[in-house]
Amino acid sequence: MHAPFHTIDLIRKKRDGGSLNADEIGFLVSGAADGSIPAEQLSAWLMAAFLRGLSIDEARALTLAMRDSGERFSSARLGKAAVDKHSTGGVGDKTSFLVAPIAAACGLAVPMIGGRALGHTGGTLDKLESIPGYRTALTLSEFETVLARCGTSIISQSPALVPADRVLYALRDRTGTVESPGLICASILSKKLAEGLDALVLDVKTGSGAFLRKQEDAEYLAALMVATAEAAGTRTVALLTDMNQPLGRCAGNWIELVESVELLRGNRPVGSEDLRELSLVLAGWMIHLGGQAEMAEDGYRRAEAVLEDGSALRVFLEMVEAQGGDLHAFDDRGFHKPGATRVMEAWDSGFISAMDTTALGWAVQRLGAGREKAGEPVDPHAGIAFHARCGARVEQGQPLATLYATNEAMLAEPLALLKQAITISETAPEPVNLVSHIFTRESAESFLHAGSAATSF
Ligand code: URA
Repeated sequence: MHAPFHTIDLIRKKRDGGSLNADEIGFLVSGAADGSIPAEQLSAWLMAAFLRGLSIDEARALTLAMRDSGERFSSARLGKAAVDKHSTGGVGDKTSFLVAPIAAACGLAVPMIGGRALGHTGGTLDKLESIPGYRTALTLSEFETVLARCGTSIISQSPALVPADRVLYALRDRTGTVESPGLICASILSKKLAEGLDALVLDVKTGSGAFLRKQEDAEYLAALMVATAEAAGTRTVALLTDMNQPLGRCAGNWIELVESVELLRGNRPVGSEDLRELSLVLAGWMIHLGGQAEMAEDGYRRAEAVLEDGSALRVFLEMVEAQGGDLHAFDDRGFHKPGATRVMEAWDSGFISAMDTTALGWAVQRLGAGREKAGEPVDPHAGIAFHARCGARVEQGQPLATLYATNEAMLAEPLALLKQAITISETAPEPVNLVSHIFTRESAESFLHAGSAATSF
């Protein structure tokens, strides 16, 4: 039971730049979860928190209160270390389909609660649901059964888990209060900590396709999340990774799964090198933090071995089957049936020097891969296959991308977006590192304590 605060006082306190204590935050969170605080007051508090920033202590208190707002999954019965990976969101980001079966094939449990398309980014659940029959809405006991059998299961958030995030997230989406490090930290970590994890690897995106585009904002978010999750007892690292171009060669729903399965089959498709590499690095950290490798580099080697020998593929296919998915689709070349297809050619010769990846993400969504309104179905067949990456030399008329749309009318806007989003220049751009920084508990804490701005962002 929380002390009987008055919501208006807590809104005014935050509005005027004050800090709320754990009891005050707990009162707001339980009011969000049980519906006793109306949307207009929660929205006003969210905007005050967005504009004033949350202190490190407020972000921690919000994370824990949200985690405890509903049921929690216990991985103790699985008898294995439970590890997960979470990305802050990008375009073509399909590493979950690789890292989850890789880590499971290395003896870990990977209980993964995925998300839907959000803004310009695609959703793991929308992609998985493009497999005919695949069910993401499992009960917690079905989740546990699939985990025990396959080592991993990827499902949607149940109404019982973290109900406060469902309410607050929907309000943030509609009130322009998404891009706040403290609120993002609490939203992501409350769900991850409710999974009962022993260890967590965070993939924090930076660059033109990330929610927080600036490197310093992404660093602050990464450090805040590592320190918060560690304080809650979960071993955590965060990798800052490049999102200045789509990850891999496909962005969409079904086509992202096909690209992932090609890698799981041990193939090395052109254009998927960064996806393979990032997946192995992330999985290497999961395997290390989960106690199956001395160092992250040893974890990388184990990850590569189970990718090459087909064990990760077997885990992935078993999971899909256990969740009702029809595996035949992966061998049926005729399964991918977009309503309209168009190849976009290079309009000039030169080097691809920059991509506005957020605009590319919106192009993917508007081909039909995303939704205009919450709850609408998405088109599993829509998406874009990119034929050239940043830094590549292209000649005029050479195919740059193939667009797959729900119908002909939906091609025009994405084609225009693509033309604006891709820059062709005479000089090649400087290469960018795929992983620019890694935060562990120690480096996250010293980063947070060093920066005075870090106490309120
Ligand atoms: N993903 C989430 O779950 N929450 C956020 O706030 C941002 C990305």
